[in-house]
Amino acid sequence: MQFKNSLEFAQSLDQQDTLSLFREQFLIPKVDGKDIIYLCGNSLGLQPKATQDELHQQLNVWQNHAVEGWFDSEQNWLNYHHEIKELLAPIVGAKPEEVTCMNSLTINLHLLLTSFYQPKGKRYKILMEAGAFPSDQYALESHVKTRGYAYADAVVEISPRAGEETLRTEDILAVIEQHRDDLALVMFGGINYYTGQFFDLAAITKAGHEIGALVGFDLAHAAGNVPIKLHDWGVDFACWCSYKYLNSGPGGIAGIFVHEKHFNSDLPRLAGWWGYQLNKRFKMEKGFVPETGAEGWQVSTSPILLMATHKAALKVMNDAGFENLRKKSVMLTSYLEFIIQKVNDQVGEEFLKIITPKNVAERGCQLSIICKRGGKTLFDALVAQNIIGDWRAPNVIRLSPIPLYNTFEEIYFLGQTLLNNLKTNC
Ligand SMILES: *Cc1c(COP(=O)(O)O)cnc(C)c1O
Repeated sequence: MQFKNSLEFAQSLDQQDTLSLFREQFLIPKVDGKDIIYLCGNSLGLQPKATQDELHQQLNVWQNHAVEGWFDSEQNWLNYHHEIKELLAPIVGAKPEEVTCMNSLTINLHLLLTSFYQPKGKRYKILMEAGAFPSDQYALESHVKTRGYAYADAVVEISPRAGEETLRTEDILAVIEQHRDDLALVMFGGINYYTGQFFDLAAITKAGHEIGALVGFDLAHAAGNVPIKLHDWGVDFACWCSYKYLNSGPGGIAGIFVHEKHFNSDLPRLAGWWGYQLNKRFKMEKGFVPETGAEGWQVSTSPILLMATHKAALKVMNDAGFENLRKKSVMLTSYLEFIIQKVNDQVGEEFLKIITPKNVAERGCQLSIICKRGGKTLFDALVAQNIIGDWRAPNVIRLSPIPLYNTFEEIYFLGQTLLNNLKTNC
């Protein structure tokens, strides 16, 4: 589509947008009675209006049924996660029994590494991005160390080529091949949090499996953002959080995927009673017998109130339809890219350099922008004018239009605000 840098054009895109009514299902923060422009759903998604209702409903079950809520409210808490699994599975391309929600993201990564990082003899290394999210790096570091390896030896980090910001798939595949005899695990982010690059997860999975390694992904920035087919790609395991693109609230309950090919394997795991076979869980017998599927990795009692916010948010996403969301997302982010280019044209230099890949198949909602000068000053000026993106050290502004609640008009307005600031400040 031929984009235009005008208010009328942006408004016409909003008028043609079949998802535009979903914005009304969200609580948009206001300043002086006016909606702010929120472009930070990559960090904390906004609150759906339905969240408070679902939460209240569960508070009422607690109030009226107390402990019996587990067994005989209309929709008992023991089965509360079943509907969540049904809603979650299509978002990551899984069968419902391959996913569950539990704990927080980094905790789940630890649980999954306990199962899926199985170093043996010469095959003990893990491949990851050099620029992975720090929590993932710390998690891997602690796993290689507790198994008796040195980080620098056991974790193979891959960096972009000199002068480049993002990784080339061919380079990732080449490193996997170079380490064909010593990789136990390939552990990658789905989308890199800093650059917004969406990796070719199918190709990485295939290459990892070809050399005999297992393959797992952290989908924190990918789940609910880009199309994912964990089952079909044959990915061994994955985990993600729910508070970014899944709009389920700060520190919300996280998700895991375990491919069905591992359901009957005897992988080691850190067990707890909530992973025990459900129909015998309350017999309180000795000797752990896991529930079949991802649920067998559960450890502790379901946090129903966190699940309530998750369920409400997933329902909204499901109502919109993930394919529709992705279609709009591609348009919105492409429009953002166009508007940034127009700002550069008007200031006469590439002042705002987008480091996220241009190819829409290699990115989701987010664009990461490096300013030629004064990036933090510009970022602070946007915040002061109620445009919220986020700043990531050392020098990136991340902006993420979300198809559920952002508009083309907001993107147009962002462009005008950037231009005004650049004219006066930089
Ligand atoms: C957001 C994010 C985290 C945060 O983990 P928590 O355990 O939820 O604090 C971890 N890894 C990645 C890749 C992330 O994007």
